[in-house]
Amino acid sequence: MSFLELKGLSKHYDDAVAVAACDLSVTQGEFVCLLGPSGCGKTTTLQMVAGFVQPTSGRILLDGADITNVKPNQRGLGIVFQSYALFPHMTVADNVAFGLEMQGVGGGERRKRVDAMLELVQLSAMAGRYPRELSGGQRQRVALARALAIRPPVLLLDEPMGALDAKLREEMQIELRALQHRLGVTTIMVTHDQSEAMTLADRVVLMNKGCIEQVGRPFEMYERPNGRFSSTFLGKANVFEVTRTQPGASVEVLGHVLPTNDDASVGALEYIVRPEKIAFVDGGIAVVRGRVSARVFLGNHWLFQIETPLGTMQLTHANTGLPQAAEGDDVGLSWAPENARLVPRAEACV
Ligand code: ATP
Repeated sequence: MSFLELKGLSKHYDDAVAVAACDLSVTQGEFVCLLGPSGCGKTTTLQMVAGFVQPTSGRILLDGADITNVKPNQRGLGIVFQSYALFPHMTVADNVAFGLEMQGVGGGERRKRVDAMLELVQLSAMAGRYPRELSGGQRQRVALARALAIRPPVLLLDEPMGALDAKLREEMQIELRALQHRLGVTTIMVTHDQSEAMTLADRVVLMNKGCIEQVGRPFEMYERPNGRFSSTFLGKANVFEVTRTQPGASVEVLGHVLPTNDDASVGALEYIVRPEKIAFVDGGIAVVRGRVSARVFLGNHWLFQIETPLGTMQLTHANTGLPQAAEGDDVGLSWAPENARLVPRAEACV
């Protein structure tokens, strides 16, 4: 059952559409990531849920109640924004206690909850320190503890790890995921980082130009992208535009028959195959032949760029320690029909 619901939620700034009629249902305890390129409307969506931005149209329901016009502080949500700084003149413990004080939670109970929160984020030893005496990661953990101390029905996070370096970010992602599972708090997080979204989210909400392009579990969305945008934003993909006039007809580009198990899709379509699903093959079984124009070693895998009659294609192969095709080599490429997807060619939603 849905716990938080966005119904036809839009935000327009004059003629510009920041968010266009978004519908989303989030179940209790779910971790949802709003993912998409800069300017696609992620933060505006989150800010509307938080109550800081008034929607142009649409509704927000929390546990069945319409909160669209409820003031931010009366929504009782936990919020951590990248720029949502801690109070510099307050200790870690006082920062965490702040929301509880605002809610009128009394001294004894307040101390108990602050202690519990600090233990949860492993900062009990730093309760008396000031924010300036903490590392970036520790500050973010205090901000999280402060947001969670009020036991919010929903936790809203906007790029909470944006200021952290890559290694710390990875560690914090794993910590955050464990914490969220333990507390079971419904969480919506904004990120433009696809690997962060895949690491954390139960479901990814992929946004583009104010619209929701696709919603799904990370694996399902990676394996079953619904078009060019999804397939290339979440990972890499080779995408060919094809047109099929009748069911069962072969799918061809410039005389090359592309393998597919999908006999049903017709019309203007996109044919999608992921780089890691393509193999080098010898002789006549190749779907297409080409020449390696670039080869990049990335540690655990190789990335190849191949010039083919269908255009430039990308391939990735796990590094098995064995020699690989070199730049300038002529190669045959093949992939299994079950590894290709045919989807209707997308139209812009606004
Ligand atoms: P980023 O990842 O860069 O933060 P985002 O996906 O969070 O981007 P939003 O901040 O939601 O994107 O912005 C969506 C669109 O709305 C952008 O085109 C932005 O310029 C526009 N926008 C946001 N706030 C305002 C505002 N107060 N006035 C006018 N336009 C705005």
